[in-house]
Amino acid sequence: MEGYPPGKGTCPIVEMSKKYWNNNIKNMMPYVPGFQPELKDNLIKLNTNENPYPPSPKVIEAIKVSTGDLLRFYPKSDWEDLRNAISEVYSCNLKQVFCGNGSDEVLSLIFRCFTNFGDSVLFTYPTYSLYETLAEISGIDYSYVETKDDFSIDFDVIKNTDYKLAFIANPNAPTGRIEPLSFIKDFAASFKGLVIIDEAYIDFSDSPDGFTSLNLINDYSNIIVLRTFSKSYSLCGMRVGYAFANEDLISAMMIAKDSYNLDLLAQAGAKAAVLDQDWMKNNAQKIINTRKETQQKLISMGFEVIPSQANFLFATHPDLNIKTVYNELIKNNIYVRYFNKPRIANYLRISIGTDNQMGILLGKLKYICDSIVR
Ligand code: PMP
Repeated sequence: MEGYPPGKGTCPIVEMSKKYWNNNIKNMMPYVPGFQPELKDNLIKLNTNENPYPPSPKVIEAIKVSTGDLLRFYPKSDWEDLRNAISEVYSCNLKQVFCGNGSDEVLSLIFRCFTNFGDSVLFTYPTYSLYETLAEISGIDYSYVETKDDFSIDFDVIKNTDYKLAFIANPNAPTGRIEPLSFIKDFAASFKGLVIIDEAYIDFSDSPDGFTSLNLINDYSNIIVLRTFSKSYSLCGMRVGYAFANEDLISAMMIAKDSYNLDLLAQAGAKAAVLDQDWMKNNAQKIINTRKETQQKLISMGFEVIPSQANFLFATHPDLNIKTVYNELIKNNIYVRYFNKPRIANYLRISIGTDNQMGILLGKLKYICDSIVR
């Protein structure tokens, strides 16, 4: 199972008696996060779409100020300062903003707040597999609609459908493809349920302002836009996600969330991060440049690369067994992501690292291409 170190066995859950488990948990496959190897100097970690550059120094300063005696007190349960900063930077009303312990928690709350037993929800395939996991945890039915051959979403198929929720990662994961705003608008107008636009990677697109669905929340009562501090703000380890929607939807999530779902340090750090837009945009631009260069070099080596607007590339090679390539890279201390799933089992998802890291990766891939043939 990907996510576990190769050769180190499978998920330990299969060993359990499950006697007291509820049926949803008993019958489902767990979500498997990308493998987190021990961080060593020569490790090149390109498997979980982390940012290769550090967070703003202002984040570290803000966290330091919040440590010490302040930790005796509970944090603000409505993340007042952080929420103010987000609404200022993204020009929206305070009450249209929600914050969670990573955008994964916001996704989980969306299921808790907006589905009932018997509802069904819509995903496209392939997409972020946690959506399916959350549906299974909640005992909610789901349907997958296949993307087209080029992995773009077939809006003709999903338009006018009748589901409680539809999840669209834009840019999509693991492909990196982005869909134009006009398609999202059209779809939301035709769809009876809520449309969740997961913009975890939007800051790495060529035009975040042009692609984002953020401004739609004022005109469409059925849109939730999801963002995260993990990727463009370099804060995976801090666990802060945020969402924009109309006040009615946000109010439901305020009721269902844990009172103190964001700790004091996370609130302080995320506030400093969002206020330092220059830092975030500068790093995002470096990653975009590296992505474009890496894409060109992969293509020149015979790889087929899906056009990406995210901080990763999704690539295959007609003459290579990609699983073998994945294992060869691990032997060289380079971790990328492999999914043993329909349609994508001969692709690698490669997070964009520094220029130096990508140079080493490309060197190894060149060697592998020259020495391994399917
Ligand atoms: N959405 C997508 C599409 C993702 O790929 C991820 C990262 N795995 C997330 C949401 C969750 O990000 P986080 O919980 O770190 O905010």
